Parts: sequence; structure tokens; C-alpha cells
Amino acid sequence: MRCEVCGAKIFGKPFKVIIEGAKLTVCSQCSKHGTIIWEEEPKPKSATTKTKIVSPPPKIKSKKTPETAVETSFELVENFHIKIRQAREKLGLSHEELGKKINEKVSLLKKIETRKMTPDNKLATKLEHVLKVKLLAPPSEEKTLPTKIPQPISRELTLGDIIQLNKKEKEKEDSPQRKPS
Ligand SMILES: [Zn+2]
Repeated sequence: MRCEVCGAKIFGKPFKVIIEGAKLTVCSQCSKHGTIIWEEEPKPKSATTKTKIVSPPPKIKSKKTPETAVETSFELVENFHIKIRQAREKLGLSHEELGKKINEKVSLLKKIETRKMTPDNKLATKLEHVLKVKLLAPPSEEKTLPTKIPQPISRELTLGDIIQLNKKEKEKEDSPQRKPS
């Protein structure tokens, strides 16, 4: 093998260079005049050019958000005082006996039964438990209507709205809100 530049015999490994744009196989002396390329051992230009296997984005686990986490906001039923009285009488309990059971003042119970006072949720729950009645219910529909879609006030009810409303009313009646345990 001879040098393509100077014509001298190449000992050892020939150099492959680019001189003035031409690829030449040259001796080590002449290789200094050009840019050495190593075709025999092509360097991997870059490993990053390899087609990357794009893995699909990790699936985001859809967190189940509790749909009804508003158990705290229960309201007393309309006729709680009647329910309490009737249930108490049904169980044959006097105000005194009921008061002892739930550790409340008799006067308080009397006031509640005459609707002079409304029991708070804690007391109502106690009464529910002892008397086996339903005193607390989720807040009335008007207050909890989802206000996601602000609707123009002037808008008239569509048939769909009426069906929705009826459905809601029905659901409200059908589903027992909380079973006294
Ligand atoms: Zn040469």
C-alpha cells in the first residue's frame, strides 16, 4: 500500500485523511496535512441518535375521590320534636328516663320536644341512637345544588331539568340516608 499523497510505501497502518475535501489513504507523514478519519473503526457518532424507545407515560392511577364527604353537615328533620316524642312514648320512656339514658337534662328534652330548642347534631345523634328514629338528614336540596354551571336566572326549565328534578326528589325519598346502627 502506498501513500496517495507522496507515493511512499506505507508501513504499518495507513491513515485515512481528508485533504482538500478528498479522501486519501496516506502515510503517517502526510496524514498531518489533512484531517484524519478512521473509516475502519468508525466511532459511533453518538449513542443518543439511536431510536429511543418512547415508553408510554405511566398511567396515573385515578384516585377515587370520596363522592360524599359531607356527612358532617346534617340537618335536623322538619318534625324532629314529634319524632322524638313519639319514639320516646313508644318505648315507654319518660323524660327523666330518656334524660338518664343520654345523660341530658330533662328540661332540655322537654324543650326539644316542644320545639323550644333544637338539639345539636351530637345530641340528635344520641337521640337517634336511643330512640331508633331518624332525626338528621342531609341538607335540603336547595342548599346543596351543585353550582358548577351557572345558569341564567331568566332561563326557563326544560323538560330535561324537570326530569332531573323529579329524579332527585325520588332519590332523596328512596335512599335511606343513614341507618341507625
Ligand atoms: Zn505520504
